[in-house]
Formats: sequence, C-alpha cells, structure tokens
Amino acid sequence: MDTAVAAPQSTIADAASNVRIDLSLEGMTCAACAARIEKALNRVPGTAASVNFATESASVTFDPAQSNPSALIAAVARAGYRARVPRNEVAEQQVSEAKQNAQRRRLSVEFWISVALTLPLVAPMVPMFATGNIFASTHHELLPRLMQMALATPVQFWVGRRFYVGAWHSLRGGGANMDVLIALGTTMAWVLSAAVTLLGLDHEHVYFEASAAVITLVVLGKLLEARAKAGTSAALQSLLKLQPRVAFVERDGAVVEVPLEAVRIGERVVVRAGDAVSVDAVVIEGESSVDESMLTGESQPVAKHPGGTVYAGTVNNEGLLRCRATGVGDATLLAGIVRLVREAQGSKAPIQRLADHVAGIFVPIVVVIAVITFVATWWFAGDAARALIQSVVVLVIACPCALGLATPTAIIVGTGRGAQRGVVIRNAAALEHAGRLTTLVVDKTGTLTEGKPAVVDVIPEMGHTVDEVLALAAALEQGSTHPLAAAIVRKARDAQVQTYSVTDYRAVPGKGARGYVGGIAVTLGSLAFLSEESVNMRGSIASGHTEVGVASAGHLVGTIALTDRLRETTRAAIDRLRLHGIDVVMITGDNAATAKAIANAAGIATYRAGVLPADKAAAVRAFKVEGRVTGMVGDGVNDAPALAEADVSFAIGAGSAVAIEAADITVIRNDLNAVVDAILLSRATLAKIRQNLFFAFAYNVLGIPLAAFGMLNPVIAGAAMAASSVSVVTNALLLKRWRPSG
Ligand code: ADP
Ligand code: MG
Repeated sequence: MDTAVAAPQSTIADAASNVRIDLSLEGMTCAACAARIEKALNRVPGTAASVNFATESASVTFDPAQSNPSALIAAVARAGYRARVPRNEVAEQQVSEAKQNAQRRRLSVEFWISVALTLPLVAPMVPMFATGNIFASTHHELLPRLMQMALATPVQFWVGRRFYVGAWHSLRGGGANMDVLIALGTTMAWVLSAAVTLLGLDHEHVYFEASAAVITLVVLGKLLEARAKAGTSAALQSLLKLQPRVAFVERDGAVVEVPLEAVRIGERVVVRAGDAVSVDAVVIEGESSVDESMLTGESQPVAKHPGGTVYAGTVNNEGLLRCRATGVGDATLLAGIVRLVREAQGSKAPIQRLADHVAGIFVPIVVVIAVITFVATWWFAGDAARALIQSVVVLVIACPCALGLATPTAIIVGTGRGAQRGVVIRNAAALEHAGRLTTLVVDKTGTLTEGKPAVVDVIPEMGHTVDEVLALAAALEQGSTHPLAAAIVRKARDAQVQTYSVTDYRAVPGKGARGYVGGIAVTLGSLAFLSEESVNMRGSIASGHTEVGVASAGHLVGTIALTDRLRETTRAAIDRLRLHGIDVVMITGDNAATAKAIANAAGIATYRAGVLPADKAAAVRAFKVEGRVTGMVGDGVNDAPALAEADVSFAIGAGSAVAIEAADITVIRNDLNAVVDAILLSRATLAKIRQNLFFAFAYNVLGIPLAAFGMLNPVIAGAAMAASSVSVVTNALLLKRWRPSG
C-alpha cells in the first residue's frame, strides 16, 4: 500500500474503493510474455490486470484489503519478469527514453558485429538467390568448416544470448514465448552442424549460415521494432516538451523567474509576447492572441481578454498578459491530457483479446508441429539432418511477435495523433467503439448551440413585475449548474434586482427546481413541469424560445424566454456525419417548438423534444438493442445517465484536467466538428488494427505449412520473421500523418 500512496499520479481510487495502479514491466519479448504476466497478476486475489506489450506496462486494479503493490510485483517476478511502480509523468518519460536509447545503441552495436560474422557464411548463398532457387537448402561451401564454426559460434551464444535468457525466464515461469522458438531452432541447427564438423562427417551438410542468419535477422527485426516503437510515442513526448521549465511571477512588486515547480495557485504570472504559457491561468490584465493549436488542433489563434483562460503549453503571440495561476504542475490541462493518453496507450482494445489468446497457446502448438515435421520428414525422406532443419524452419517462421504488436502500436500512434489534434481518447475500448459508431445521439444545449443561453424576454403575469419574476427565479437558480440558470442569474444581476436567499433547494433534473424563498414555496422550470406541479398555466406560446416559468405558492408569477444561438460550425459537422454514414438524433429536454427550430437550422432530420434525463438514457439503450453502436455527445449537466448508457460518450470543449476525465472521448475544441474528427481518427486506427492483425496472421498461417513441407530456407524464414514485425509497426506509424477529411 505504501508504494501506491507514494505515487499518486499512477493511483486512482475508484468507486468500489479498489485501487488502480500502473506498473512498468521489464523482460517481455513478445505477446506470449504479456499474456503470461497478465495471467500471473489476475491470479492474485481481488485483482484485474491488463498488460500492454508495446508500452511495457500493466494497468492493475486491486482490492487493497486483499493485495498490495509489493504482492503484485512479486507475482510478476514469480512469472519470470520484473515490475516496478513508475514515478510521475515527466520523470517517467525521461527515464524510459534514456533507457530505450541506451538499449537501442547496444542492440545496434551487436547487430553490426553479428552482420560482420554472418556475411562470410551467407555469401555463398548469393548465387542461389540470383538463380531464384531459394527453396534449396544446400549450396556450395567456400569456407573450411572449422572456420564456419568459428564465425557462427559467437553469433549463436553471444549475440543470441538474449534469446536464451528470454527463453529461460519464460520456461521457468511455466510458459513458452518466441525466444523459446528462436533459441530452440537455432541451437538445433548449430548443434547438428557442430557435430558434423567435429566428427568429420564430410558427406553431411552443415547449417552454420542458417543459425547465424536467423539470429542476425531477428536482431535486426528487434532493432527496427525498437526504433519504430520509440517513434510511436513521439506524439506524447512532443506534448510533454511544450511546457516551459520556468515561469515569470510577480512577487513583492517585481517580476522574477522561478522554476515551474515553485509557482503556486493564485500567484500572478506574467506571460511575455512570444513566450510559451507555463501554467493554466485566468487573464487579469492585457490583450493578446494565443496559439492553442497544440492542444486543440485548431490553427487559428484565439483572442484573449481579461477573464479569459490560458493553458500551459500554448504560445502567447503579440501582447503582454498578466494572469492568475489556476492550475500548476500535474493539474494543468496539458498534464491531464498526457496522463489520460498514457493510460489509454496502456489499455487494451476488445479486438486484441483474440490476438492475445492466440499468442498464448501458439508456442506449444508450434513446438508440436515442429516435432511432427521432424518425425514425418525423417520417416518419409529418410534424412534425419534434413528433417531437423525443416523443423527448425517451422520454429523460426512461427514466432508470434507481429501478433503482439499489431493492436497496441496502432492504438499508441492513433491516440497520440488524437492528442495532438485536441482529441483525448480515454482508452482503447472507447476508440474501438467510436470506430464502429453508427448512431450519434446529440444533446441540444452546448452541443449544437453555443451553450450560453441569454434571456431575451421576461413576461410577468398580471399584478406582477419583471423584477419580481427575475428576483424569485435568480434566488432559485443560484443553486443550479444548468446553463439556463447561469443566464437567469446573470440577467438578474444586470437588472440589479433585489437578491433573496433560498432554503430547501431541490433540483428536478430535466424539469426545473423547487425551493422556499422567504418561507413561500417557489417552483421554476419548463411549462410542462409547472403544469405537473398543478400551477395554473395560461395557453403557452410556441415562440421557438426556451421558456422557463416561475411560480410562487402555486400561482404563475411570470415566464422567462431564453435563446441559445446555434454554433456556426454545427451545420457543417452534421453534414459531415451524414456523409460518413452516421445517423444523428437530437434528444432534448426543451420544448417541441425550440427543438424543431434548432433541428431545422442544424440540418437534423430526427429529433425528440421534452425528453427527461432518464428517458434520454432509455432512448440510447433502445438504439443499442437495435444493434446500433451508439455514441452520445452531451454536457454532462443532466445527461449523465445517457452518457453512461452510450457505447461511447463524447464531451465538447473541456477546459481543465478534471473535465477531460468525464467522458470516454473529450475534444478540447468547442466545436462538433472535433467530435467528427475523433470518430474518423478512431475509424482510421481501427482499420490499421485490422490490417495489422491480417498481416501478422498471414505470415504465420502461410509460413508454417511452407516450412513443414520443406519449401522454406531457414534464412528466408528468419528474414520473414523480421519483416513481419517491421511491417506491422511501420504500417501503424503511417497513422502519424492522419488528417481529418471533409
Ligand atoms: P437539454 O436537453 O436542452 O439539455 P435539459 O434536459 O437540461 O435540456 O432541460 C430541459 C428543460 O427543463 C429546459 O428547457 C428547461 O425548461 C427546464 N429546466 C431544467 N433545469 C432547469 C433549471 N435549472 N432552470 C430552469 N429551467 C430548467
Ligand atoms: Mg442538458
């Protein structure tokens, strides 16, 4: 437990008082390892774990009453791997970057030595390739056999030691991974050749070039894979680097430069023209425009005035801004995005389960196939050496490493690309659902409209005044977070009406609110709600405005008409959704006339008005029952049940580290088009995953029979192995260049 408390960034307590923790893992070589660690962690009582091979991390939820981080780390160790609790974001990123660089350099040195030793062995094969006779496993030997053995042995046992170590770890843990296949295969070829050489059996073939070439090629594959993996997380690294390391704060009347960690919330921060903003802050003085493209993906600079918010990592253009810090360190929007995306990159897409399952049972099956190949070939061809080499090829071609990389690499690149364009995807499952989305349910207020309604009219009943209506309404609305409430409170303040306080305030979601003002029961809300409350209503006016009625002691005092403008970009976004085959349904709690006006203006054909929050959820459920993959965009004020019910929930225009945690996918930009971008990016990522899984399976499925029937040369098998990993990672990297289409 101690360790979890010491690392707050990676520990979140959820509702069931379970604790979530991330572990950094070491020693994995392929998807089979990941499956093994996951099994080991899940065997710990009260624990649910998901291991990501690509990020070398585990996301573990455990019951603190039954387990603790040390027990989890011990469970990983027993399975033959190493685990530790990571430090904070930036430190962790730097450590892992430095470590990966060092590992890559070492791997690259060993690779080139391996090439130098292997080339003289494979050189005689060149004519064979030239004549196209690549299936032949014999060729002309140029070098004396002892010389060949001298070249192949360091490749086998020095360069190849990583495979022995990996195989040992995995076997000791009771499983088998790709290292087992490589170590077993190449050792068999080496032992056979060494025996032939040392016993002087000159009429038999030797296969030193095969074992050395396989090791060299697989190391090449690992090297390219490591390079590409570093590239996949580049998006996140570039986001982290946006935040400057120092800030200028006003202390005792002077502006001083302080390290970022020293800035306190509430301090006055000065942002000079051309500087990157160091903290989240509210502008108190100055005018400028700020480049926020790194957070929102929107290239137009945003004007900033006193009262506006600036975000860490964005760049101030021409003016000098004095601000008050509202979020520093890990509490900035930028840090929140990085944390969330890192978590997402470590999460597992439902589509990956199949691949994991296959990888876990693959190795033992392959060993069985190799044994059958050996026995059958020996039996029918009568040549034990050839039979052995044929089963070696089976072992080599069957490595499931591309399978383990197929999904996570695409998820990492896709979520990273999203973060660069203001799309924050919470986890891989959200991405997968968004990629399959067929129906999008949208809330009206704040989603299609600006979300800032304004009072356009106050109509008092006979015997009452405008001020009286506003005063009573404002008294109740002080207690509400509803956008309508904010508008009414603002109007009352502008009109300088008397302020009352409210007692016994009760919000009625989707309808309005009740309370007591000066001991008298006051009710406010939609006209339908007031009718239900047996307030005597006059014939309602279908004005196309949102109407809020105010009643005191059961009698209508007046109505307030509000209007909320359609956002300029909404219509284009709806057109794009239709173009991409997504059904859009607007569901609102507002009255039918307003709903119709907004739906028409936005170009939405299907809408429902007067729907209560619980019924919004029921509508989403009904779509799901029809088999539609349903998304919901809402403000969360009273759409929470529907957002929770949807396959994937979207939030628009979140401006704080906390707000982006609320939905499955958050777009930072205040624009429905960003939701369309999120859906298209998810589709592109899902398409990559499908392509990758196909690639990965194809290599193994085509390769194994060819190998079993002796139609593949060991060197070709090694090259195919390396190529499979590399092609999968490279394909995922293509997503880096993704751009939203029209
Ligand atoms: P939407 O679907 O547009 O988000 P809501 O479900 O939030 O609408 O609210 C539906 C209707 O209920 C509003 O149009 C309004 O008439 C009434 N209402 C709900 N909450 C309040 C409130 N706090 N103050 C005034 N009216 C409210
Ligand atoms: Mg709402």
